[in-house]
Amino acid sequence: MRIVLVGPPGAGKGTQAAYLAKNLVIPHISTGDLFRANISQGTDLGKQAKAFMDAGELVPDEVTIGMARDRMNQPDAAGGFLLDGFPRNVSQAEALDEALKEDGVTLDAVLDLEVPEEEVVKRIAGRRICRNDSSHVFHVSYSAPKQQGVCDVCGGELYQRDDDSEETVRKRLEVYHTQTEPIIDYYKAQDLVVTIPALGKVEEVTERAMAALQGGE
Ligand code: ADP
Repeated sequence: MRIVLVGPPGAGKGTQAAYLAKNLVIPHISTGDLFRANISQGTDLGKQAKAFMDAGELVPDEVTIGMARDRMNQPDAAGGFLLDGFPRNVSQAEALDEALKEDGVTLDAVLDLEVPEEEVVKRIAGRRICRNDSSHVFHVSYSAPKQQGVCDVCGGELYQRDDDSEETVRKRLEVYHTQTEPIIDYYKAQDLVVTIPALGKVEEVTERAMAALQGGE
């Protein structure tokens, strides 16, 4: 299956993507994670991306589209993938369509995770992520780790992302509304969008998403 996950920052895309990719046995491709990996490895691409990310802005398309395409061209993604955080504006969606067309394949679904804005700000402010694996996500009050600052899954160090400060979150939300939301209409025109209410327990949201994927297309 070829799936795109959309939703505001803090909707739980990364958490859901990890579960869904495992259930569906397809790679989870997160452009945010790819940028963060480049930043921690000190690559040129990471250096270019960091200032935009810290400001809550989108990394320019020239950098992002090439990186996403390279990842989609890896052998493990030949049979399908779950895209998380890409596309994030209409021109990226058009570039993705172009790439899929060249490969003679199409998307199966676009899952739109819906969460009220107040909830998003609360979720992000308390979010803590494992340095070893970004799918190990905790929240200081909603899903606190057993030991403060330590990942329950692997013992890695938990940290707060640089772009999770309240000011940057507000900017990311604004960017989401102006640049990313229009791709929902773009995909509605292709009849691909399934809206998933993303409040409630993580497992409940995963079940809703799996049911939508199995029932729909
Ligand atoms: P979230 O979904 O919580 O906002 P991500 O990890 O997906 O977090 O993205 C973090 C940041 O990485 C974004 O605010 C943006 O700066 C950059 N980024 C990620 N994906 C893209 C993309 N497709 N295009 C441009 N910038 C991106």
